[in-house]
Amino acid sequence: MILAQLPRLRLSIFAKSHFSLASSHFNLINPNPPVKLARTLFSNLATVEPIPLPVSDSSHLDAAPVEIPLDKLFIPPETDISGEEPSRLAARILKGSNIVLSKYARDAQVVQADYVKSSVRTEDCPADGLPEFALVGRSNVGKSSLLNSLVKRKRLALTSKKPGKTQCINHFRINDNWYLVDLPGYGYASAPHELKKDWNKFTKDYFLNRSTLVSVFLLVDASLPAKQIDLDYASWLGQNQVPMTMVFTKCDKRKKKKNGGKRPEENIKEFQDLIQGFFETTPPWIMTSSVTNQGRDEILLHMAQLRNYWLKH
Ligand code: GDP
Repeated sequence: MILAQLPRLRLSIFAKSHFSLASSHFNLINPNPPVKLARTLFSNLATVEPIPLPVSDSSHLDAAPVEIPLDKLFIPPETDISGEEPSRLAARILKGSNIVLSKYARDAQVVQADYVKSSVRTEDCPADGLPEFALVGRSNVGKSSLLNSLVKRKRLALTSKKPGKTQCINHFRINDNWYLVDLPGYGYASAPHELKKDWNKFTKDYFLNRSTLVSVFLLVDASLPAKQIDLDYASWLGQNQVPMTMVFTKCDKRKKKKNGGKRPEENIKEFQDLIQGFFETTPPWIMTSSVTNQGRDEILLHMAQLRNYWLKH
């Protein structure tokens, strides 16, 4: 298969992070990244000789290294990796993701988060033109937990769980200059058919018509095998060219192999294989856990780079 012949980055997805949210983009590049690289990597890049690199100490985390072919990386616009040394490129990939950092990755910290309003129609959403990111996923996927973890507030997302607001577009203003948007969870087993159809129409309208929407963050439970409803959602977003980042939740839940359970990495790989046909280029994806806060800082950096690019264009 063609993909198998492409150069691969061999990353330990639980490698320790070597950046801080306070860093500028340039501090994010670590000349000695904790990654393993296969010997024949990057044959199409400038470096031919394998570069000896320190191997990350992730054995205690039961984490298998993940191989990411270069064409499966998410490379932000205005980002050129062609002349990049393998070690520097590896250091620019956000831990537990396929996301390459760009010069726009800055100002990621959340210092303030306020609930603003709940809207029932796209037209009723805030009209101040600030960029926004929408969180969406199956009910119980861990959306509220992730939202609380992103803003470091234990109960902020409770606001959108209050009666009457679970089916709304809930806006939270961050640092007074961008929004996190909590959309209704889908796939309630017990919801009446008509209601389900209505939610669909309402969120699709928002995705297609909200001009300040920078990217949808589609949450998928990594502790379970791929679900058809999530695949359908991803497919719809891909076919409608709505920018999407996949956020895999509950990555701390590690099922026992002997019980037939799959590791989060295996479920993630399977999900990606199933959706690859829906997208022209590989969408960004990232592993998270609201229990360990895995992926929290990485999501914020990714949002920052998307937002700063969006603001400039
Ligand atoms: P929502 O319905 O999508 O808003 O999901 P919640 O955030 O309310 O979480 C649903 C359930 O999953 C709760 O029991 C959470 O404690 C649990 N949960 C959420 N995130 C995680 C996670 O990262 N790891 C684990 N192990 N459990 C989680």
